[in-house]
Amino acid sequence: MQTKYIVVLGSLLSGLGKGVVTASISKILDFYDYKSMPMKFDGYLNYDCGTMNPFRHGEVFVLDDKSEVDMDFGTYERFIGTDTDGSLSITGGKLFSELIAKERNGDFLGRDVQIIPNLTDMIIEKVKGVSERLKLDFLIIEVGGTVGDIENSYFIEAMRQLSLLEKTIFVNLTYVPKLSSVGEQKTKPTQIANRALMQLGIRTDIMVCRADGKLSSDVRDKIALFSNISPEMIMEDQDIRNIYALPSELMAQGMDAAIFKAMGLKKGKLNIDKVNAWGKTTKQMGSHKRSVKIGVIGKYTKLKDSYASLTAAVEHSANAMGVNPEIKWVESDLINDRDAARKLLEDVSGIIIPGGFGKRGMEGMLNSIEYARTSNIPFLGICLGMQLMTIEYARNVCGIRDANSSEFEKKTENPVIDLLEEQKHLDKKGGNMRLGSWPIKIKEGTLAWEAYASTSANERHRHRYEFNNKFREAMRAHGLVLSGTSPDEELVEIVEWPNRKGIGTQAHPEFKSRPGEPSPIFNIFMKMAAAYARVKA
Ligand code: GLN
Repeated sequence: MQTKYIVVLGSLLSGLGKGVVTASISKILDFYDYKSMPMKFDGYLNYDCGTMNPFRHGEVFVLDDKSEVDMDFGTYERFIGTDTDGSLSITGGKLFSELIAKERNGDFLGRDVQIIPNLTDMIIEKVKGVSERLKLDFLIIEVGGTVGDIENSYFIEAMRQLSLLEKTIFVNLTYVPKLSSVGEQKTKPTQIANRALMQLGIRTDIMVCRADGKLSSDVRDKIALFSNISPEMIMEDQDIRNIYALPSELMAQGMDAAIFKAMGLKKGKLNIDKVNAWGKTTKQMGSHKRSVKIGVIGKYTKLKDSYASLTAAVEHSANAMGVNPEIKWVESDLINDRDAARKLLEDVSGIIIPGGFGKRGMEGMLNSIEYARTSNIPFLGICLGMQLMTIEYARNVCGIRDANSSEFEKKTENPVIDLLEEQKHLDKKGGNMRLGSWPIKIKEGTLAWEAYASTSANERHRHRYEFNNKFREAMRAHGLVLSGTSPDEELVEIVEWPNRKGIGTQAHPEFKSRPGEPSPIFNIFMKMAAAYARVKA
């Protein structure tokens, strides 16, 4: 089948869950055995989001091919269960740098270079390149930002032009507020949003309305009338506790039929096995009888988006263990000493220290690790968490009192975590951490081996600093288990406490966790936490 295009736009405001809608459309098409892939446009002029602070941008998601991409890619992969790649992420920065490089190369000699047609042509070329290379039935393109922004205007214009060349439909995500004073859902913002889109030459095919409560049939009819579409092309998207239920929620309203109708396609054959398999893995999520409280100690806890994949991985593994996770977010700055660690963490059955950068909050995390280790509380350290686990062990077990990471103290005498020689000479910041998928060799008999049920694994990475090999012997002599290394054994990948309650990985296993395929390392941690909670109860 010639690739068809579905463009997902957001109007009125951001944060309505365009990524989840995009991922759900891809999932629905997969239920009909169509091959589709999501693609994302981001208007910012950064080359990628790798240099952005989590407070500005939320989590930076990492792909196998080393790309640092928008957190929506995490949602896509968790829904579609397939690895994506960097060519699916197009930013303003990537486009402009490529265009200017072409101009410098003389590709446009004698001509001025313009947004239309040069930049828009380039976008269309990339979109078509992806669909041809991946041999897709559908490419679902999420345009970041909101209709009316300057940043994404050239992307929207390119999509208008694409619709003149290829079968393309537009899905518009809007918001239908309910005014508490009148107790009534208001359609005017959606009407205005639709008008804004029409001014750009784009007609909505399917409208998805984020709403407080169900859309009444009056409201649906009114939106339909003002937007030139029939009521069955209007979907409601209420707040739902379990986001993985959105594909079926949308299908129950006829989203699948609406897509096929708008595309001029006959309704395909639903693959019931796929629908059931998805339902089976995701239905129970969050509604088990037992809950397990997990403390996550981080420095970006005020913005939950900073830990989106971590939260998802905790949910997937808890679901696999038949429990509901209750995450207690603790800001590491609050844990000034051991007492504070005990007070803030005595009600949890497992502790996670996630990834992070820079010195702030580190001592609080170290206090929590010491508390977990000395109290035999299940512990999982991720990237920075594994590095801090190493520092805490060096300080409090090996007696290297001033052990540190050279990230926090450049001139430390005992850098148990340090830069590799090749990293020391880098003077630029973008895209040069240890990124992407790396193989791990796992030692038999260890917790890691139990988790992966294998002597090898692959996990995604995003960090600069590493376990310093000069300290391997001292740490090992004091019982720290180095259970995972690179295949050539040069880099330490996984460490464990001798009490078999704590494990730390230099990788970010949360990036590969999916509802039906939870991360092995999160699974083993959650298994220990669930057992701990049972004993505690
Ligand atoms: N700041 C640490 C490093 O760069 C850890 C990074 C992370 O947790 N992703 O090595």
